[in-house]
Amino acid sequence: MRRSSVIFLAVILVPSLVLAALAVRSVRDQQIILEHQQAIISQDVTDLLAKKVQAQLDGSTTEFVQTTQHLLTQSRSPRELANSFNQKLRAAWRLADVGFAVDVSGAIYSPLPSQGTRAAIFLNETGRFLSNRENVPVFSKSKEQRLTQFEPVAPQNATQSAAQQIGQNDPMQQSAQNSQALQIQRQVSPLNAPIPQQATLSNTLPSESDFRRLIKDQTTGAVSRFLEDKLRVMVWYRPPGAGSLVFGAQLAQPKLVEALAPLLQSPDLQRIGSSSAPGSNYCLAILDDRGKPVALSRPGFRGDWKHPFVATEIGEGLPHWEAALYLLDTQQIRRSASTLQLTLGSIVFALIGSILLGGWLMATDVRRQMRLAQQKTDFVSNVSHELKTPLTSIRMFADMLADGRVDDPGRHTQYLRIIAAESSRLTRLINNVLDFARIERGEASRERRACDLVEITKEVIDTCRPHLEEANVALSLEIGSGSLSLLGDRDALAQIILNLVSNGEKYGGGDILVRLRREDGKGSDWGCVDVLDRGLGIPAKQLEKIFEPFHRLEDSLASGISGSGLGLTLARRMAQAHGGNVIYSPREGGGSCFTLRLPLQTSVETR
Ligand code: ADP
Repeated sequence: MRRSSVIFLAVILVPSLVLAALAVRSVRDQQIILEHQQAIISQDVTDLLAKKVQAQLDGSTTEFVQTTQHLLTQSRSPRELANSFNQKLRAAWRLADVGFAVDVSGAIYSPLPSQGTRAAIFLNETGRFLSNRENVPVFSKSKEQRLTQFEPVAPQNATQSAAQQIGQNDPMQQSAQNSQALQIQRQVSPLNAPIPQQATLSNTLPSESDFRRLIKDQTTGAVSRFLEDKLRVMVWYRPPGAGSLVFGAQLAQPKLVEALAPLLQSPDLQRIGSSSAPGSNYCLAILDDRGKPVALSRPGFRGDWKHPFVATEIGEGLPHWEAALYLLDTQQIRRSASTLQLTLGSIVFALIGSILLGGWLMATDVRRQMRLAQQKTDFVSNVSHELKTPLTSIRMFADMLADGRVDDPGRHTQYLRIIAAESSRLTRLINNVLDFARIERGEASRERRACDLVEITKEVIDTCRPHLEEANVALSLEIGSGSLSLLGDRDALAQIILNLVSNGEKYGGGDILVRLRREDGKGSDWGCVDVLDRGLGIPAKQLEKIFEPFHRLEDSLASGISGSGLGLTLARRMAQAHGGNVIYSPREGGGSCFTLRLPLQTSVETR
């Protein structure tokens, strides 16, 4: 038993508990894991959206180049186009807010201040930069000074304040120096960011330059700058064969936004998005440099714009603009995590529970098997003893009679009676063992004949009486009913009564009362045989155990009373086969009362 317990603990219980502890720990981390998975997938979505917006801007530059080339083919010379570029471009290209043409040396051919308010404002805002008379902070795709390390400070409009600090001596060098000390806060703080620093600081930084230094010897490009907090996006093109002429355009922002909106509905964005756990439970947004949405994938959605679930900066083309993703139901991940936690937790506890229950059942079964094995061993020694005792006295008295050593006729008869009584004890024991074996094999007698319980009991008592008198056991019979007719196996019923009387003799303290009575039942009456004695009785805990095969009370074992532990088992099983039972109740005033209770057949004619 101890060995089985150690094996159970070492091989099953301890490893299971360790696994359960690990599982419980992972259950606790479920929300973090889910959020992380969701964030990774969502980040892919905003990264792709940011790339698409950039590509759209690149496409606008290409469109501009093609439009300019087309206009050039319609003009007599680049110079002639330069003079009227603003009007012609605006007429030819819907994205153009203002068209400009400049010479790298600083001459501005278009627009002219006389071409309307828009042109006048443009020249006022950008003229000095285009004619290389002013260094301004710009974001350009072609710029070389890409900066990544900054020190803490200044959110919003850091571009402008940085620009104001920049000196005039060596603009590019100063730009680099100042930019290194520059740190720009993003317009949003995503709840999840792959690198924590990216959650707050912008990767898109300006550098100081005038127009000539910006374009260098390149053919085309895009440049953005902030003017009084307003973003200006320009594209430019230097056509081959146009000398030092550069054509450019300031883009009309509302039209640009209009062109960006359809990107939010791209099927590839939806495809990546729907692979995330909460499905399409999100809204995509393009946020401008103030962190306000300019386009939404779900019109009408209202969110905490400053705190998207994830966001990606669009880049130099639209500095401080963001591609952002908002969860529609922010509690969904928590709910999914809770459901998962609950499911996993229940499984873990159910498993541990069933392991413990299984262990307990196994232990109980092992204990039962061990008890049975012990009882069987006891049974063999008890039966041997039971056989030996009567055989010894039979042999002794038979030898005495055979040798002619007994002259007294009275003693002669007495010895013969003892031999007969011991033989019937042997017969009863052997019958019990054989009947038990038969019942265990499922071969219980099915014979049913009309008989009278009163008659059977009387016969049994008559058989036992001489022997009991010999053993100084008082036996009285009380018949409280005329006849108790039933259908049954006569020999089996006699055996039950004999077993009960025999137990009364062995454990009953020398006084047995057998009582016959009829009990009224609802359907049919019951015939009862009570066998009462004045012995020690049965302790409450052992009430049912005494009916189990081979079970004997400690007291009986200690007092050396021989027995096989089969008498009551057989008595009950045989009674049950007749639709009745054998039950125990304590006798008033001390002792036991075993009752054989059988259903009576009122219409049966006794044989
Ligand atoms: P056994 O052959 O041991 O008598 P039984 O099945 O007839 O086997 O009885 C089982 C046990 O029940 C006995 O060993 C004894 O301990 C207890 N027992 C049976 N009858 C009585 C009784 N009348 N009084 C006290 N104990 C009894």
